[in-house]
Amino acid sequence: MSNPEQHPSAVICKSEDQGNRIPAPNGQLLEAREVPLGGPRAMLVRRTLPQRARSLIGAWCFIDHYGPAEVSASGGMKVEGHPHTGLQTVSWLFSGEIEHRDSIGTHAMVRPVQMNLMTAGHGIAHSEYSTEATTVLHGAQLWVALPARTRDCEPAFEHYEPPLRELDGAQVRVFLGSLLGETAPVQMHTPLVGAETVLPQGGLLSVPVDPEHEHGVLVDTGVVVAAGTSASSGQLVYQETGHDRLTLEAVGDEPVQVLLLGGAPLGEQILIWWNFVARTQEEVHAFRHAWEAERSGSLEPDAQPRYGELPEGWSTTLPAPDLPASITLRPRG
Ligand code: MN
Repeated sequence: MSNPEQHPSAVICKSEDQGNRIPAPNGQLLEAREVPLGGPRAMLVRRTLPQRARSLIGAWCFIDHYGPAEVSASGGMKVEGHPHTGLQTVSWLFSGEIEHRDSIGTHAMVRPVQMNLMTAGHGIAHSEYSTEATTVLHGAQLWVALPARTRDCEPAFEHYEPPLRELDGAQVRVFLGSLLGETAPVQMHTPLVGAETVLPQGGLLSVPVDPEHEHGVLVDTGVVVAAGTSASSGQLVYQETGHDRLTLEAVGDEPVQVLLLGGAPLGEQILIWWNFVARTQEEVHAFRHAWEAERSGSLEPDAQPRYGELPEGWSTTLPAPDLPASITLRPRG
């Protein structure tokens, strides 16, 4: 997905160990902010990262959660070609189907319990449309910041369907990193973990986790006590480093579905503007300028396109939002 904000702020994100420690009890509760996805019948997305109270969990830098939304009411997802740099996108669906095309020649379907991992690196452009078969759209769009040493890497696309792992009545699918003896065979650039976890009503799960990781629990359905804090749909609970377990308890009158996200603190300061993860304002300007030139076909004849070969089937692409000459930097976290 594209960052749907019409006038996105530039957001500085950094890890707690960068002189940025916020006094927060373990089990910090992070509320979502609603952002319309655009169009006259806009579907709302709930954003829990980045926000003022926290901007990074490991290298996870952006969490948008959406639906369940009836496509007949919302019009579904129609995100035209748009660029990314310096990040990986993780697309995870609970229901519906999305057709993905990108500028490295990928044509793929995003479906429930299958992970699509797109590595933007130096630059990529992609489009996402919910298919006609989709009646209810429900999922999460997650971004991972790439570290300085690999953020300019070649773009890539990986598809992975994690096996179902059952433990104490819970159902876990590990789509990134390692958890409960399962390891996802996809490329990570910093230590990370990502897993969909479903608990039956009243279920209790104590998950062994890497104490060098910080974690977030994004609640999709139900009411869960995570790391000692009660949370419901759209909320995110944070657990700091230094814990070797993460406990989840389904306390409401229905099953619980969450995404468990974690990783080693990134330890780098990043700058997010629109769909770009950068380090400086100059880079943001350059990334935006390159996209506007390439989407309009005004790139110099001998110049190498940053975003690759835009698919021929694209009739339109998303323009980058306006960017003032000097970005107002808004630190988060
Ligand atoms: Mn996107």
